[in-house]
Amino acid sequence: SAAFDVQRIRADFPLLSRTVHGKPLVYFDSANTSQKPESVIAAVDTHYREHNANVSRAVHQLGEEATAAYEGARDKLARFIHAGSRDEVVLTSGTTQATNLVAYSHVLPQLKAGDSILTTVMEHHANIVPWQLVAARSGATVKAAPIDERGELIVEKYVELLTPEVKLACVTHVSNVLGTVNPVREIARECRKRGIPLLVDGSQAVPHRRVDVQALGCDFYALTGHKMLGPTGTGALWAKREHLEAMPPFFGGGEMIREVKFSGTTFAAPPHKFEAGTPNIAGFVGLAAAIDYYESVGFTAIEAWEQQLLHYATERLREIPGLRIIGEAAEKEPVISFLLEGAQATDLATLLDLEGVAVRSGHHCAHPLMQFFGVPATLRASLAFYNTREEIDSFVAALLKVRRLLR
Ligand code: PMP
Repeated sequence: SAAFDVQRIRADFPLLSRTVHGKPLVYFDSANTSQKPESVIAAVDTHYREHNANVSRAVHQLGEEATAAYEGARDKLARFIHAGSRDEVVLTSGTTQATNLVAYSHVLPQLKAGDSILTTVMEHHANIVPWQLVAARSGATVKAAPIDERGELIVEKYVELLTPEVKLACVTHVSNVLGTVNPVREIARECRKRGIPLLVDGSQAVPHRRVDVQALGCDFYALTGHKMLGPTGTGALWAKREHLEAMPPFFGGGEMIREVKFSGTTFAAPPHKFEAGTPNIAGFVGLAAAIDYYESVGFTAIEAWEQQLLHYATERLREIPGLRIIGEAAEKEPVISFLLEGAQATDLATLLDLEGVAVRSGHHCAHPLMQFFGVPATLRASLAFYNTREEIDSFVAALLKVRRLLR
């Protein structure tokens, strides 16, 4: 049958079978970081046991194996997001390094007083603060496109703000707080018409859906490996080749040069020009295994199951009096932010932890979004395809129990 065998999936994730405070773990914090399948853990372990060496330096057998594994991860990631070429994939420590690389290497060199960078009210700080830092150096400004009460981007306003002084437009593919999926193709089309490059923050999209960077039509796409079943400290910046060719390097050091002389140094071609120093080799070996895992399950099955979970959890939460869901976009990934009348988000999260339920409370690195909704914090339940309907039931039961305690 076509039924999704979630128990078989769960058996691949060793951590999911542990208990917390004597209760079975209900892990609803995957937007923060995902759990890892055995195959990812084993790939990292095997790398250190059998293939460990530095990359691109040694001619010995281990050096060649490590280099092949690291560069193989780049190939795999390039195919996974349908990059036009492996050379368009810069391996980074995560989304934050990717957006900062674009800020300092692409935007800052061309930014002058009066220019601006366009972002949105629903962004993670990683897609706001780097732009503010480079704007402050050049007398430029950062503008933010508004959202509506449902947590959807007001696309007409975004397009209105795409004026000639905008040197870079930015948008998140999926909101880490609201789950909102933004119409990136449409935004990219409007940016192209005006010759404004578009950066998309894909951190919360890649774990849930098939991403095709060429079909999206953007210029830059940033992603982070630890939210997509991979190790922490991995990620990537995909960029169109023309941008990478034109960008000066950001970090200097080993591995990124062609020839170093005190009279002048020449640089390697992209992507290596942007990868100074020894990278997180084992991490990328793990990320390659994570991609294999996604491909073995398949996004058709993942999306169908996650949407079922999202709808079931939303329905169950709506039954609770005094519970307010923040973010009711028409198209969402399985992320639900909410507040419960008469209870502080952090108190609730602390008590839920005692019931074995892991959710996040706080501002989720999205202060402007909290300001828009007029709240200091929310609780956020974020799900993945390894979660179950029974866990949603346990979560709702725990929520009702801790609410009684707080009254
Ligand atoms: N953007 C979004 C939408 C995110 O959810 C996150 C992680 N919370 C980031 C950027 C930053 O990712 P990282 O910390 O892995 O660099």
